[in-house]
Amino acid sequence: MSEISNLCDVIIFGGHGDLAFRKLMPALYHLCNDGYINEHSRIFSTTRAAITQEEHLELVKTKLKEFLAQGQFDEAKFENFKARLHLVKVDLGNVESYEELSHLLGENPQRERISYLSTSPDFFGAICKALSVWRLVTPQSRVVLEKPIGRDLVSSRAINVEVLKYFEESQVYRIDHYLGKDTVQNIMALRFSNRIFTPLWDASNIDHVEITVSESVGVEGRWGYYDEYGAMRDMIQNHLMQLLCLIAMEPPCSLDADSVRDEKVKVLKSLRPMSAADIQQKTVRAQYTKGSSNGQIVPGYKEGEGVANSTTETYAAVRVDIDNWRWNGVPFYLRSGKRLRNRNSEIIIQFKSIPYSIFANKGSCISQNKLVISLQPRESIQLKLMNKIPGLSEQMRLQQVDLELNSPTNEERKPEAYERLMLDVIRSNPTLFMRLDEVEAAWKWADIILQGWAENIVPMKSYSAGTDGPTAAVELIARDGRSWHDE
Ligand code: NAP
Repeated sequence: MSEISNLCDVIIFGGHGDLAFRKLMPALYHLCNDGYINEHSRIFSTTRAAITQEEHLELVKTKLKEFLAQGQFDEAKFENFKARLHLVKVDLGNVESYEELSHLLGENPQRERISYLSTSPDFFGAICKALSVWRLVTPQSRVVLEKPIGRDLVSSRAINVEVLKYFEESQVYRIDHYLGKDTVQNIMALRFSNRIFTPLWDASNIDHVEITVSESVGVEGRWGYYDEYGAMRDMIQNHLMQLLCLIAMEPPCSLDADSVRDEKVKVLKSLRPMSAADIQQKTVRAQYTKGSSNGQIVPGYKEGEGVANSTTETYAAVRVDIDNWRWNGVPFYLRSGKRLRNRNSEIIIQFKSIPYSIFANKGSCISQNKLVISLQPRESIQLKLMNKIPGLSEQMRLQQVDLELNSPTNEERKPEAYERLMLDVIRSNPTLFMRLDEVEAAWKWADIILQGWAENIVPMKSYSAGTDGPTAAVELIARDGRSWHDE
């Protein structure tokens, strides 16, 4: 038992959708059972489906068994959890259909209300409007928006304008689930609580930064969604950009939400906009073709449902330049793709070479120091340093070894990103959520590249499923005399 937070009503719009069952319910199950949510709080799941409360509870139970990690489902804990679960029939686009929800929430008018919009963004405006029409938006209400918030600056603005007709900006929590990962939060701890990194964290000491998010899975049946977005919109504009901000931002004056977000926005506003020539030189887009993944032959992207003529990239790589004092001349290389050899997310901070090696004629080459922040599949932080190979050899032989940061913890289990984020919404702490100006600054930068791609100024490359991606991504970084960390 850790703490009892505010009494609240959580309403999951799209409560029978994939995300709700895969991530949100497991997060709430843990938070309730670990004592973070008041036992009198209620969790409403909305659906159009004609099912009963009993059937809803059975379905949640089945899904929890499916999506909780092995050994985490517990019958007694489910009994405790299920007392808070309620089904409510809502057709998202039909304002009349919110009547039952309105009655249920009206039973506790003073209670803090968290509306989690786990739906397509097409419904965000309609849901917020319906909540307002039924007078369900109070100063204690918060609304959580799932990604994607638009597919460019214009559509993102349109969605936000709709939401902000009914909620204040301070009530809006835009999720980027990468920010809920412990190791991602640890980037701030690492940078701002360790003096040794302070003088090293700039262009005079850092050669370049790599941010990679590779997935071994394909589109998993979500062609309708994915084909509208692609790797740049689905991953780079949001998740990888947020990671870049945490690495590049100046120390905030405090940990409060606006101080942190002010610093992130400054980074986003310093991203160098790309010219047409830059887009050709510094960006790569590609689609996967048939190949072999985990020992199985898998079809190419265009063999998916209704995407035979698709021009959507399943892989994107880009060199980002940040025009400010700290980062002038330090490229950030970002890449992300689907159906790659490995599932792997990591950030590499590569330091510059030493000015001169006294070991060169002793048969040792010196590798550059690297700080490796791994987010997936394992969360870890390693500093790669040179060290003498022990022994009596006349030659001073060196090797690169890892200094690994291990945090001892009494927690039995590492919380999932969605637990952290859901709890922060309950605690009214928006630090890990994106403010409107962050979203817009990131779109402004990405839109220029997307426009160039739409005009075909960069050819679409291909890569076989199950490989490390297109060779054009290797060439992208090789043009600068560098190579990806894993090559
Ligand atoms: P989903 O399963 O496709 O949809 C969620 C719910 O929306 C459905 O269960 C459905 O509810 C309702 N809905 C769909 N069309 C409707 C319509 N025409 N009228 C009324 N209701 C309708 O979505 P999801 O995969 O859970 O994802 C939800 C959001 O999170 C999306 O924006 C997605 O991009 C984002 N997201 C998802 C994931 C993931 O892993 N799934 C990851 C990151 C972000 P009923 O049929 O029950 O009424």
